[in-house]
Amino acid sequence: MNKKERYAAFLDHFTAVLPEAETELQYNNPYELLVAVVLSAQCTDVRINKVTPALFRDYPSPEFLASSNFDELFPYIRSVSYPNNKTKHLLGLGKMLVEDFNLEIPSSIEELQKLPGVGRKTANVVASVIYNQPTMAVDTHVFRVSKRLGLVTQTAKTPLEVEKQLVRHIPEEHIPKAHHWLILHGRYTCLARKPKCDQCDITHFCKYFDKNGV
Ligand code: SF4
Repeated sequence: MNKKERYAAFLDHFTAVLPEAETELQYNNPYELLVAVVLSAQCTDVRINKVTPALFRDYPSPEFLASSNFDELFPYIRSVSYPNNKTKHLLGLGKMLVEDFNLEIPSSIEELQKLPGVGRKTANVVASVIYNQPTMAVDTHVFRVSKRLGLVTQTAKTPLEVEKQLVRHIPEEHIPKAHHWLILHGRYTCLARKPKCDQCDITHFCKYFDKNGV
């Protein structure tokens, strides 16, 4: 199977079985999604979904973050990874949204990356989920699964290289969904240490399976 056929099989399969794939983070508006994605760095969506209801109740908009302080905010997110840094990021993010962005969540990757705690991956997720832009956020699942499937070359060493290869081959209209397909497949089936190949329904176009079997 060549790369073109592999991409076609990937798109055919997931369009059929997961047409409505979306983030597992819970949010009600762009501001909440941005905060949730910042918090989710190096942490699980399950953990983030446990802390955000109280956080969003008491910090319903950027102004509330902007006028808060470390001691007030920290308790809300103490159970997520890197709570010290993330508390500082959220305080700075609220301030910047108020002072520089007129409370609007920016749509461009460049502007999003100016916000504290927002790197390229977070910016890509926000642009994709909120603005449906054809951006591909590459986290550890996307990085691993796209390589195993053979969608990107084994020589791709950085998330940016993987992102560029995926974006080059996946039609724009499928990119926001493809991001979630790769994440969900990596989270539940194509696990990092022990992929569940015996339960996987895409063995027919997986390069790793082709080479290693079950
Ligand atoms: S066959 Fe195995 S390696 Fe390939 S995608 Fe499925 S779980 Fe991952």
